[in-house]
Amino acid sequence: MITLGGQILQSGPDGHATIRPGVVEIAEDRIVGVEFGNVPGTVDHGDFDTLICPGFIDTHLHLPQFDAIGAAGLRLLPWLREVIFPAERCWNDLGFAQAMIDRVARQCLAVGTTGVCAYATVAHDAAMTALKAFREIGFRGVIGQVMMDRDAPPELLRPPEQLADEVARTLEQFPADQRMAAAVTPRFALSCSETLLEHAGSLAASHGAIIQTHLAETVAECDAVAQRFGGRDYLDVYAAAGLVTRRSIFGHGIYLDSASQKRLAQLGGMIAHCPTANSFLGSGMMNRHSHLSRGITLTLGSDIGAGFERSMVRVGRAMIETAVRVSMDAGRGVDDSAWIPTAAQAWHQITAGNAEALGWNDSGRVAVGCSADLLVIRPDTPWLDSPQPLSTLMFAWDDRWIKTTILRGRMRYSSASAS
Ligand SMILES: [Zn+2]
Repeated sequence: MITLGGQILQSGPDGHATIRPGVVEIAEDRIVGVEFGNVPGTVDHGDFDTLICPGFIDTHLHLPQFDAIGAAGLRLLPWLREVIFPAERCWNDLGFAQAMIDRVARQCLAVGTTGVCAYATVAHDAAMTALKAFREIGFRGVIGQVMMDRDAPPELLRPPEQLADEVARTLEQFPADQRMAAAVTPRFALSCSETLLEHAGSLAASHGAIIQTHLAETVAECDAVAQRFGGRDYLDVYAAAGLVTRRSIFGHGIYLDSASQKRLAQLGGMIAHCPTANSFLGSGMMNRHSHLSRGITLTLGSDIGAGFERSMVRVGRAMIETAVRVSMDAGRGVDDSAWIPTAAQAWHQITAGNAEALGWNDSGRVAVGCSADLLVIRPDTPWLDSPQPLSTLMFAWDDRWIKTTILRGRMRYSSASAS
């Protein structure tokens, strides 16, 4: 049994987060007790000024792009060609990939990320290695071998049949009902022939897998898709291949017209909002309120390496900042709560909100029976004196406040032993 003491963060069904003092008990990989009241000095980790928080969930990131963060000055399509494809080519060397996977996993733990929806590369062995490594450490989530058969350097392309066979093997070894599962991951429409998209759709259907891809991130990309696919609507290109499901996570979704928004809401696909990536590449600002008002499920992701923040707290803060700008541009001002999420709502999004959207019922919450994926956070500021403690934490955030990251009841990161 391990005990954590401090201010326990919990999310309500209304999307708000609350903090109350108490003790969390962990046995094996589960939370077995949550008792509110005082914080005794006998707990294993924490004290009255500590925040006990669910691990953060990042619903859109690219593992091979961590070293490419910060390559500025390019828009999406040239950035892919000049920065990202060379970075992903490095994963054709399994030894390089293995070392980078270990390094990236450590970075995730140090910033409190315990759940991921991640892209690997087109290299099958590297994708399998990433799945095995992240499962071994105890992460919750999905990782997908990227599917591409056109418009990239030849060493990053594979024939559709080969990709279908390789991705099928990932899905067989890491099935959808497992804590770490394979995802069907066609990069985006421009990287895929219609044959490959159809393979992806049928693999996802037969294995019940999560689908990850990108959608409507930039105007130039949308124009290129329309040109390539005979003027068809971008979402329809995916829908025709069976790729728009309740288990589909579409990165970005900035440029969707109201008909596409309604269709996406009906079909149940999610948008992974990635505000830091959108500002970094100058792609635009997603209108969160518009998507939510049409019934689309939103998640939040770092989109490393277009996104430059590893910390989901900072991505949550960027979500608020983007919403403020969108609201001002729409003439709604800065006080419209329907348009601008609070810090408590942002905390909810990066924990329980992302988990709920993905159907991860035992993740993202500090509650009895849930997986013990927890953070022990000790701010060096009098945050409990703040009238809005979660807002103070989010806007004054320092990754060094994370003292311990626990996955499945095991301590996987400690600031005391971090080099
Ligand atoms: Zn992405």
